[in-house]
Amino acid sequence: MSLEEAELEYRSDGDDAWYSVTVVLEDNGDVLRVKYCGFSEEHDKVYRGSELKSKSELRQLMDRFRPLSAQLQDSDCTNLSLGDVVCASFSFLHDDVRFYDAVLDGVENREHALKQGGEECLCTFVLEWIHGPNAGNLTYTTIENICRVRSTAQTDPKLDSFLKRAAERFVITPDPVPVSKRDDTPNIKHKRSFLQRINHDTRRAKRSTVGKIGSSEGGAMERWWALPFALPYGSCTVEFCL
Ligand SMILES: [Zn+2]
Repeated sequence: MSLEEAELEYRSDGDDAWYSVTVVLEDNGDVLRVKYCGFSEEHDKVYRGSELKSKSELRQLMDRFRPLSAQLQDSDCTNLSLGDVVCASFSFLHDDVRFYDAVLDGVENREHALKQGGEECLCTFVLEWIHGPNAGNLTYTTIENICRVRSTAQTDPKLDSFLKRAAERFVITPDPVPVSKRDDTPNIKHKRSFLQRINHDTRRAKRSTVGKIGSSEGGAMERWWALPFALPYGSCTVEFCL
């Protein structure tokens, strides 16, 4: 499987790095085989729909895929903004380069040089790594090591088909709705209404007494409870007594 055949990016659960992959459906769509571009079949990752036990697991798997990131060109330099999430390469060894997500934390702009066929970006970019061995650390890099992450709105029809088929296994149970065969609690509505009226009248009473009876709200409340029928806000008292 060559890199030219890549269809998607996949974040491996082994090292958390992003790889270019293709996906293949097997067993009538119940199995998803992830094939790493540039690697042999022995590295394939196989997911079985029957092994996904919850919507959460399904969502976690879905989040491992996204469209291929685009390599930034030298002229794209000014299109980057602080806070952008990018996919950048990190070299463990000379021939071991892996890609992880990072946030653009800073840019040291320099005047671009002219080269045959265009310009050459000489700026330095500060990345805060999100994944990988440098997660949480800041490092410096140049534009040729940075890719723009594409929107996840684009999806792969084979991946969509597998996820949809797997999701159909989950039974969607609506929240239970209490059903009473006969109404043997006739006073509940009345009791609630009564309590609501108490609360309502309490608020009204507190507003009415502030500045008239006590200097503090607490003092007003004591007087209200002690003398419910004698206070000069008749409408509240009448409602409470009903
Ligand atoms: Zn630049």
